[in-house]
Amino acid sequence: MTETAPVIEIKDLHKSFGNLEVLKGVDITAHRGDVVSLIGSSGSGKSTLLRCCNLLEDSQQGEILFKGEPVKWSGESHGRRPADSKQVLRIRTNLSMVFQQFNLWAHMTILQNVMEAPVTVLGRDRAEVEESARKYLDKVGIGDKCDAYPAQLSGGQQQRAAIARGLCMEPEALLFDEPTSALDPELEQEVIKVIKDLAAEGRTMIIVTHDMKMAADISSHVVFLHQGLIEEEGTPEDIFTSPESERLRGFLSATQ
Ligand code: ADP
Ligand code: MG
Repeated sequence: MTETAPVIEIKDLHKSFGNLEVLKGVDITAHRGDVVSLIGSSGSGKSTLLRCCNLLEDSQQGEILFKGEPVKWSGESHGRRPADSKQVLRIRTNLSMVFQQFNLWAHMTILQNVMEAPVTVLGRDRAEVEESARKYLDKVGIGDKCDAYPAQLSGGQQQRAAIARGLCMEPEALLFDEPTSALDPELEQEVIKVIKDLAAEGRTMIIVTHDMKMAADISSHVVFLHQGLIEEEGTPEDIFTSPESERLRGFLSATQ
């Protein structure tokens, strides 16, 4: 719980869906200000690992620590669950997730979408939340869309609204799961620019991405997952300029 503890630390995580072991002992650490990119083929376990970070998935074995505080589990290894619902809420609200499909509420305006969780989940003062929601919508470049509904926005604008929603929780870190994959190439760039700005401000982020250029540009650390194990990890230079494993080289040449 010290200031120097990583924001998120995962040790030897094992996760199965029924008989299918999807994570086979994975370690990942994000210190404050780190941008960790997770890359790997479809089905390698990237989304599952990200979802385990903020306890959207249970797991069978291993430790998850938030700012040095270990997640408490109850039950035996096969059916373990987080034991402390307050701890789960604290961790989940501090690790804002941005999904591939935006997941905005269709019946709420953009401003209402951004304000919803801070007001109802965190119980913050509505007027203060509105002020910060407007500030974050401005920051992602859609301050003029407060009163629009999600369907009236382009995909890139909707994803930027989802990022503003994540920021409005004032989280310790942002978790992105393929944030640009659902977007046309020209809209992808406006979201990448927002993510780059967040990286430049020193936000802690874990990003699952197929965008190797973005990963190379903004990451402090890159993790290549293969079939539920870390095959190789390192700086962007290590991973993209001098990859060692045959599998990583194959993966990178296939994504060119
Ligand atoms: P990635 O994000 O790298 O494409 P995922 O983490 O989504 O990979 O999936 C890893 C593996 O786990 C895949 O084989 C996938 O089919 C399986 N999987 C993911 N979610 C579930 C689920 N809810 N139930 C059963 N299997 C799942
Ligand atoms: Mg995925």
